[in-house]
Amino acid sequence: MPIPHRRPFFLPREELECLFDALRAGGYACVGPQARDGAIVYGRLDSSAQLPHGWRDRQAPGAYRLLQTDSPRCFAWASGPQGLKPFSFAPVEGLWRSWRRADGGLGFEAVEAEAPRLAIIGVKACDLAALAMLDRHFAEDAHYQARRRGLLLLGVDCHHPAATCFCRSTGDGPALTQGYQIGMAELDEGLLLWSNAERGAETLALLDLPEATEGQMEQANRAIENAAQGQTRELPGPDLSGVLFESLDHPAWEKVAERCLSCGNCTAVCPTCFCHDQISEPALDGGESLQVRRWDSCFNEGQSLLRGRVVRGNIRLRYRQWLTHKLAGWHARFGRSGCVGCGRCITWCPTGIDFHPVLDAILEGRP
Ligand code: SF4
Ligand code: SF4
Repeated sequence: MPIPHRRPFFLPREELECLFDALRAGGYACVGPQARDGAIVYGRLDSSAQLPHGWRDRQAPGAYRLLQTDSPRCFAWASGPQGLKPFSFAPVEGLWRSWRRADGGLGFEAVEAEAPRLAIIGVKACDLAALAMLDRHFAEDAHYQARRRGLLLLGVDCHHPAATCFCRSTGDGPALTQGYQIGMAELDEGLLLWSNAERGAETLALLDLPEATEGQMEQANRAIENAAQGQTRELPGPDLSGVLFESLDHPAWEKVAERCLSCGNCTAVCPTCFCHDQISEPALDGGESLQVRRWDSCFNEGQSLLRGRVVRGNIRLRYRQWLTHKLAGWHARFGRSGCVGCGRCITWCPTGIDFHPVLDAILEGRP
């Protein structure tokens, strides 16, 4: 828990629904984590009872399991398969349509983005850091920005990182630092709440809450320190661009390509991957066409089609493109790597590929 400008408020667990009421009074639909189909996923919440009370996650390369415990907590998990990406960068959306006019010419019109006002409850620091990067990439994208303006973000300090997490080493967690309007830290007896922006303060003002006690703040601070110390993985250095660009012919790429299915799961779950393509969807009678943007992946062969030629025609080249872009190429554009240490690409890889041993092999023997 960062030191807020003023002491946080305390919301007893049995009054959790009041927070939902305040968000709805502000015109927001509530979205939050829930246990569904064996994973923690974000979805619309009609009531706080739908939060994943007592659920914990266990993660390892290629493995994710949910466990039901008797803990009263709802945010005692690390990360589900889904970050905030689908809420700002839609997986599939129409951008504009064209049609043949009666006079024989062509008509064009933009498709309005659907941009509901959503309060997203329980966002972890790594996902807020990833969203900040997407905000920069899509700074001039009208569809993205329309959806983004509708989001109110309720961050929560992550007290339960998984074995695959390494946000401490990327500087993106586990404590909240940026991008949220209301901060939360969870204790057994309830939530500590603090505002980090005017919109958050307006919502909290609707609740008549007492201030947290010293003891509650100490508990929350201890939990976040333990969470940081509990992370055993780390990114080996803040900027790997030099070493990666010098190692394009390293045998580690061939070795990892023997296991990689080029399925693109890692890019789909990665909260910072933003590749997309555009296709035309013509109506059956040919009189109208919709231009659609949809998520793409550097693991798709067609994504490297340049002037009719596939330039990354094997998995070695595609895996290398993904990791060098993510950990090296991003530095030139964003001044940092594209990895926030959420560990999703490791957990959700069907063959359990973990990029840390790939980096270790490349770094081995280097000063
Ligand atoms: S590269 Fe992997 S660990 Fe890093 S942000 Fe993407 S999914 Fe998370
Ligand atoms: S690294 Fe894993 S998740 Fe990514 S494309 Fe290869 S097999 Fe799929």
